Amino acid sequence: MTRMKVTFLGATETVTGSKYLIDSPGGRTLLDCGLFQGLKELRLRNWSPLPVAVESIHQVILTHAHIDHTGYLPRMIQQRFENPIYATSGTFDLCSLLLPDAGKLQEEDAELSNRLGYSKHKPALPLFDEADARNTLRYFKIVPYRERTEIKGLAFTFYQAGHILGSTFVSIDCGPQILFSGDLGRYNRPILRNPEEYRQRVDYLILESTYGDSVHETNPAHKLSRHIQEVDERGGKIFIAAFSIGRAQELLFLIRELENKDRIPVMPVYIDSPMAINATLFYVLHKEDHDVDMARLTKNKNPFVTQKFRIIRTQEESLLTAQSDTPAIIIAGSGMMTGGRILNHLEFGLQNPRNLALLVGFQAKGTRGCDLQEGARALKLRGKMIPVKAQVDKIDGLSGHGDSEDMLRWLRCFPSAPKRTYLVHGERDTMNIWKSRIEKELGWNVYIPRYLEQVDLD
Ligand SMILES: [Zn+2]
Repeated sequence: MTRMKVTFLGATETVTGSKYLIDSPGGRTLLDCGLFQGLKELRLRNWSPLPVAVESIHQVILTHAHIDHTGYLPRMIQQRFENPIYATSGTFDLCSLLLPDAGKLQEEDAELSNRLGYSKHKPALPLFDEADARNTLRYFKIVPYRERTEIKGLAFTFYQAGHILGSTFVSIDCGPQILFSGDLGRYNRPILRNPEEYRQRVDYLILESTYGDSVHETNPAHKLSRHIQEVDERGGKIFIAAFSIGRAQELLFLIRELENKDRIPVMPVYIDSPMAINATLFYVLHKEDHDVDMARLTKNKNPFVTQKFRIIRTQEESLLTAQSDTPAIIIAGSGMMTGGRILNHLEFGLQNPRNLALLVGFQAKGTRGCDLQEGARALKLRGKMIPVKAQVDKIDGLSGHGDSEDMLRWLRCFPSAPKRTYLVHGERDTMNIWKSRIEKELGWNVYIPRYLEQVDLD
């Protein structure tokens, strides 16, 4: 008989590569299927085959669309995975943007390194391409929130996590009750609903740890409005490196509100990310995810459109905007500055002390965003070193992740302590602090699994 077990295939003592394999009698299920990002030793894991045969996996369950939870799917398809991928409707729509885009970026990177000859591999190959990514979308099966779904070896139910559009935490009934937090969102933020309260028995909890050691700024709007006033006065530009999904929409929503309340001067707001533009449309359309205010606002207008709002569609337009000195607020991806059009703005704008580079999301080690946050005096970008003379700041109150207080509030709803709580999705130091906090405040049994570790569930 199959032993019931979980194997941690990613996001162990790090924040990317979420993948957890659940073996239960009658089925093998992969929970999330994320790409490793950031440090090279982690990224190299994307190139090795999964430690288990792909064809032995009966199904995948996705908590949400972020690439660190879904970006390995096209690799699975390349390895002839042909089974269902279960996700919410919002997650499917966002994956239909994110995955092909990731494939295209992979192709472009490979093409560039072949042309410039800076890869050891001849020829350099993409991890997967756009066609693999589009192919992946054929295997999705849409599942609504709060509907128990029986699949091979277990039943699962999605609940709203409030992290990004379509995001969930998922309960798994395979005899023992497993709950996986996915990425937990926050309470009382605009647009999305709060994380749902979960009041049923949990035997084993797999819990994220991203901000387990910190508490967010309570008033990001205040800091944002001060920055906009200051940069407007000195005639500079603000570059906001924002994840196209979630942060970009929350920023637009906040700026529009600040304008409506006359708390900031009206500056042109450019959204320089085709993906953010498409994602914003999905944010308007998916009413099942809206909180009360968002539901009211979307009745007669688009709550993401500011007074001087402009969409930048092409790469040429983006470069022209990057080279111009006209004051503006520019929202561009990628959120950790690892690629995307934000690089245009950094290349031409980082050397100007009137400008401000603003970080509004989590910055993983090894990314340009993290270097900048830690005070780098120059950034390596497209083969050049760009001196950093612009002001740099971060607003962590805009994160899509709950902080330690949000997560504890969610945990306190559980009727009793799980037998064991496994911490994933966090940097090592953060996890240690988060572990002691849960042990001290809730008295729970907490464990930090290592990469590829297997644990039995009884
Ligand atoms: Zn996420």
